[in-house]
Amino acid sequence: MSTTVTLSQRYASLPQCFYTFVKPQPLDDSRWVAWNEALAIQFGLPQSAPTGELKALLSGEQCDESRPPLAMKYAGHQFGTYNPELGDGRGLLLGEMTAQNGQVYDLHIKGAGLTPYSRMGDGRAVLRSTIREYLCSEAMAGLGIPTTRALGMLVSDTPVYREKMEQGALLLRVATTHIRFGHFEHFFYTNQLSELKLLADKAIEWYWPECLEHDKPYAVMFNNIVERTAEMIALWQAYGFAHGVMNTDNMSIVGETFDYGPFGFLDDYEPGYICNHSDYQGRYAFDQQPRIGLWNLSALAHSLSPLVAREDLERSLSGYETKLGQHFSRLMRDKLGLQSKHEGDSQLFASMFELLHQNRVDYTRFMRTLSCLDRSDISEVYDLFIDREAAKLWLANYLQRCEAERDEQGQQISDAQRCVQMRKANPKYILRNYLAQLAIDKAEQGDFSEVYQLAQLLRQPYAEQPEMEVYANLPPDWGKKMEISCSS
Ligand code: AMP
Ligand code: MG
Repeated sequence: MSTTVTLSQRYASLPQCFYTFVKPQPLDDSRWVAWNEALAIQFGLPQSAPTGELKALLSGEQCDESRPPLAMKYAGHQFGTYNPELGDGRGLLLGEMTAQNGQVYDLHIKGAGLTPYSRMGDGRAVLRSTIREYLCSEAMAGLGIPTTRALGMLVSDTPVYREKMEQGALLLRVATTHIRFGHFEHFFYTNQLSELKLLADKAIEWYWPECLEHDKPYAVMFNNIVERTAEMIALWQAYGFAHGVMNTDNMSIVGETFDYGPFGFLDDYEPGYICNHSDYQGRYAFDQQPRIGLWNLSALAHSLSPLVAREDLERSLSGYETKLGQHFSRLMRDKLGLQSKHEGDSQLFASMFELLHQNRVDYTRFMRTLSCLDRSDISEVYDLFIDREAAKLWLANYLQRCEAERDEQGQQISDAQRCVQMRKANPKYILRNYLAQLAIDKAEQGDFSEVYQLAQLLRQPYAEQPEMEVYANLPPDWGKKMEISCSS
């Protein structure tokens, strides 16, 4: 069994203005509290939490003094305002590793101490936010939503002060890339145009080599970013995920959900849900995410203007809404068990959302109940509504629409067949904020059992898992619409 990891240094081969080499500041007495065995196996890493040299490397306790890890330089628009001062303020890229399927991933540690980009921060991550990122990235992967992953989590005796004294922790993050929209913004706004071009060349070489087959590779690259972003956000909207801090420095160019902070999954279907306690204007409210995606892409387009013709940028941007809408409709049809496209479908979705909103119905519970529909007892569905008559009406429309569905042999699809498919698109279990909070409360007392249980459960969110039924419960009053602080 391998006790080491082979890392490449392709990002480090870029010129020095892309990053700063930083020696990590190790945490006191760091120890593993989670090791993602399934992910580790994909990289030929040990199945159990590493010890010795490998642990020392992954925890930042030891590094090659002549070539330490690096903090990336980037900038970004935060809440609509450009901030040139950003960069990895507490994260470090150890290097890249190749998975057994041949794909290359970044290996990054978050919480490893001060860097030149820490600004007023301390370079640390607290246990609470580290657990949230660990759990949510696993939950998103379980749902099938592109995301960075968490390879492991260490806790330590290093005290970290936020609103109170907390325990310092470290997250090991695996991502296709850590290049954000903000990387391009940095080079554009500092007028480092050859570096801007170099970054685009490298992004193409590493992530989209097929762009080189076109005569306008940078335009195709931007179009890819637009499409990936649209697809990611369509998934967020279909699954009820609110990111909370969609600043351009938190947007991955490959469309992976990135930098988990004050995120939240919808409980009741509330389009204006704001999960971020500091988002006073609701800029990043749940229903604003598609619009903000476009805003962020426009900011990126502006930064790519030295490389891509204006009309090409505009053409890609103008395709965003259609792409997102098409993807969202396909996801909603999957969720409602509808394979064919019909003209009235968007109206059917819109009336469903309206009804869920008016009746404050739990989104995940509703969709799952609909996926277990038994016509002999339809009350299970409309019992979720205050206005049962309106729900009955919608349901009747929906069931009528279902009758138009045919299988390949032209046979009508039965409720049972449809429901089997629907249960693959409607999770029984999601990372509700109150569940994450209960796991954190226990972990802060030294008991990580809930963290493991949740991580395990959320890797298979579509499976029934009868012994875990309680995790599908609706949130208690205190756990509804929790707003999470940005301090992490
Ligand atoms: P975020 O929106 O949380 O992703 O962070 C925005 C910027 O602040 C990034 O450049 C982070 O690296 C930096 N940052 C966040 N928290 C800290 C911290 N505790 N210490 C240093 N930098 C931080
Ligand atoms: Mg960030």
